[in-house]
This record gives sequence, C-alpha cells and structure tokens, in this order.
Amino acid sequence: MVEITGTTQLICLLGSPVTHSVSPAMHNMAFSLLGLDYAYLAFEVGETQLAEAVKGLKLLNARGWNLTMPNKTKMCELVDELSPASQLMEAVNTVVSEDGVLKGYTTDGSGYMRMLREYGVDVIHKKMVLGGAGGAARAIAIQAALDGVAEIVIFNRSLDKAVKIADDINRHTGCIASAYSIADTAQLSKALESAALFTNATQIGMAPRSGQSVIEDKSLLHPGLVVSDIVYNPRETKLLKMAEEQGCKTVGGLGMLLWQGADAFKLWTGHEMPVYDVQNKYFK
Ligand code: NAP
Repeated sequence: MVEITGTTQLICLLGSPVTHSVSPAMHNMAFSLLGLDYAYLAFEVGETQLAEAVKGLKLLNARGWNLTMPNKTKMCELVDELSPASQLMEAVNTVVSEDGVLKGYTTDGSGYMRMLREYGVDVIHKKMVLGGAGGAARAIAIQAALDGVAEIVIFNRSLDKAVKIADDINRHTGCIASAYSIADTAQLSKALESAALFTNATQIGMAPRSGQSVIEDKSLLHPGLVVSDIVYNPRETKLLKMAEEQGCKTVGGLGMLLWQGADAFKLWTGHEMPVYDVQNKYFK
C-alpha cells in the first residue's frame, strides 16, 4: 500500500466509466515498490465536467492525470502544450503538470510500440496491416509511422475514418499509408501477403461478442505474420486462436494496457515502472 502523508501528490484517472480500471492498482503498486510519494485515484468525470475538474486539479497541485473515454479529445483544448504525437493524434491520455503548466501526451501508441519491442516484434522499416480506425487504431498507426514503420494499410468499416488517418500519415510522416473498407477481402488478402504484422484495433472479438473475428478466413494468416489483438477481454481472442493454429506468433491486448501505463508512469515520475512485478500481480 502507498503510505499517504502530508506531502503525497495526487495522480488520477478522469473518465466515465472508470470503476473497472486497473490503472489505480497498477500505479499504486509501482509507487509503493519504488517508494515514490504519489497516490493514484480514479474519478468519474464526463466531457462536460472535464474543464472544471482540470481547474480543480491545478489548484490542488496534482502531478498529472490520465484520460480515458470520453475525454481524450476534449483534453487537447485544455493543456498548455501538446506533444507532437498528441497533436497528430488529436488526443491526450496523459497530462503532466509542471508547476501548473499542463503538458499533454499520448501513451497509447508509444505503449503499443514499446510493447512490440519488449516482445521481440520488429516492424520498423516493414509493412503493417491495421484493422480499425477508432481512437486506439489512430494512436497506433500514427506512432508506428513516427517510429519508422515503412507502410501501413488500414482497413475499417467506416472508410472515411481510415482515409483520414492515412492522409494524416502521408502528409506528416515518411511512412506510406493507404485505406480500404474492411469488407474488401481481396485487398486484405493482398496486403497481408507481404506484411510483418497484423493488428486488430477494432472492437470485433471483444466480450460479449467473443465468437467473432475481424479476419474470418484463417488461410489469410501466414506463419511469417505476427498477429496482435488489442482487445484484452477475452485474453485470447478468436483471432489469436486462429493465428496460433496457422503457426503465427501472437500478441494479446494486455501488453498495450501495461506499457501505455508504464510510459505515463515515466512521464510523471522520471522512473521506469517495475513492469514485470505489476504484470505478475495484475495481468496474469
Ligand atoms: P473506438 O474509437 O470506438 O473505435 C472502434 C473501432 O471498432 C472502429 O474502428 C469501429 O469501426 C470498429 N468496430 C466496432 N464495431 C464494429 C463492427 N461490428 N464491425 C466492424 N468494425 C467495428 O474504440 P477504441 O477506443 O479505438 O477501442 C477499440 C478496441 O480496442 C476496444 O475493444 C478497446 O477495448 C480496445 N482497446 C484496448 C487497449 C489496450 O490497452 N489493449 C487500449 C484502447 C482500446 P467504425 O469506425 O466503422 O465505427
């Protein structure tokens, strides 16, 4: 347990809903292991209350906070500085207060890319195929492009959202991006043939619809392909089961959750999170 004293600084999560979040447990365990004088709490705060909550946190000299649904976009308007990745992603999931100056970052994409490195998956200068164009997919695609992935092919149900991400990547990074409808199985098959990584960043496969997979034809998954699913409920999605049957290396969604937290922890404290202790306790 974190020992709370008169000098303990607050770090928190602002979102709705937040009661299911593993972030308080993960960060408080890490503060306690490293003897850091912070405490992490979760607060139920929606978009309309966000500005007022931020004003209160500044007044209380909170060290920083995380944002989850529905606050990641709105927070961009409330910070004093945005990291280059946050500017491109149009989202903030981590705020650091430096003597009242609010700096906004996004660790969803950096956490995902860090997780790939930690798990020995190398996509730099290679091609990745991404399912989805929501908030998480946008963060992953933009960070992957900034980190040096050579080509990203995005498939989504709403084509306009995928096209916007591809346009932003092509305009602002050296990566080549393209976008297709997720119903275009011929293009999906072609894109996967020469890809190093397929990432599912749609909600498909998430409980209670865990019987579904974003890729229905498992023959599209070749053994040289790494298959990653950011859905973490269930731990092993139908997509990951199919990929394993095809001989692919697979990566589950808990890793992204863990490493986005570790990146935020470093921004607030300057210390590496004791990730493997946290993983053993909360992510098994
Ligand atoms: P989001 O912004 O609402 O985006 C949802 C995505 O799923 C969109 O691409 C959407 O397509 C697609 N989608 C939803 N239902 C679909 C369906 N029936 N058929 C086809 N496509 C469908 O949500 P998000 O924040 O990006 O989250 C996406 C998933 O990632 C969720 O399952 C979430 O739990 C998971 N996630 C995991 C982590 C982690 O740390 N592991 C972090 C963030 C999110 P349209 O654009 O056409 O609507």
